[in-house]
Amino acid sequence: MLDAILTTAALKPGMVGLLGLPLDEHSSFRRGAAAAPPRIRAALACESTNLSTEDGRDLGAEPRLADLGDLDLDAAGAAAPATITAAVADALARRARVLSLGGDHSVTFPVLRAYGPRYPGLTVVQLDAHPDLYDSYGGNRLSHACTFARVLEEGLAARLVQVGLRTRTPHQRDQAERFGVEALDMRDWPRGALPTVSGPVYLSVDLDVLDPAYAPGVAHPEPGGCSTRELLALIRNLPGPLVGADIVEYLPDLDTAAATARVAAKLLKELAARLLADD
Ligand code: MN
Ligand code: MN
Repeated sequence: MLDAILTTAALKPGMVGLLGLPLDEHSSFRRGAAAAPPRIRAALACESTNLSTEDGRDLGAEPRLADLGDLDLDAAGAAAPATITAAVADALARRARVLSLGGDHSVTFPVLRAYGPRYPGLTVVQLDAHPDLYDSYGGNRLSHACTFARVLEEGLAARLVQVGLRTRTPHQRDQAERFGVEALDMRDWPRGALPTVSGPVYLSVDLDVLDPAYAPGVAHPEPGGCSTRELLALIRNLPGPLVGADIVEYLPDLDTAAATARVAAKLLKELAARLLADD
């Protein structure tokens, strides 16, 4: 149920926990993503829409969906990543799964530190305009531009499949080759085609995979992206089972009429539906 904030201790096997991760200190260009979780929840609760998903599931009456609120990462300070890993690991130990709301894309590394040991053979599908594979960026190895280099160095994913890329640098192409990353550039993504994956699958959605026409409220808008409908089709049809997901890089400051918040809330609903269906 989404009308109360629960603790991870309340999670039962098969439940999906919605967890806000308000962290943006590792953004390389512009901060602001820490303000995203409450804005996405507000769009979800807005009376302009309802909580029914496209497959007819009423999330407002769904006993297996729990809102775990936002982690207090300001108080955690330098321990913020460890705090994220501990919270997600606690949920997974209770045989629940986690749908997290960033924050910038740096949050996916500590989330996968919990997922990797729990799901051997995990495939991570990253939807993003950027590969986030820099060895270091601006002197920061925890930058949101380095997330998936760290994930692969630690062996937290058996496979990384990136979809929607359109900004790859020579260094990041080298890194992809070094780590055996499977990358599907946006220009080579045939309409409706799905990456060839098998479960368990973790899906990381950087909102800048969308064309800025659909999602202007991001730090690194990159023209030439996918549509909301193409992204929804991938979420619905991707082979699974889906065991976890995140939605990251929403910047309320740059949004227009909450358009990006509404897209994030829509993706949240459909990802929750997919997680609930896959258990
Ligand atoms: Mn990213
Ligand atoms: Mn990106």
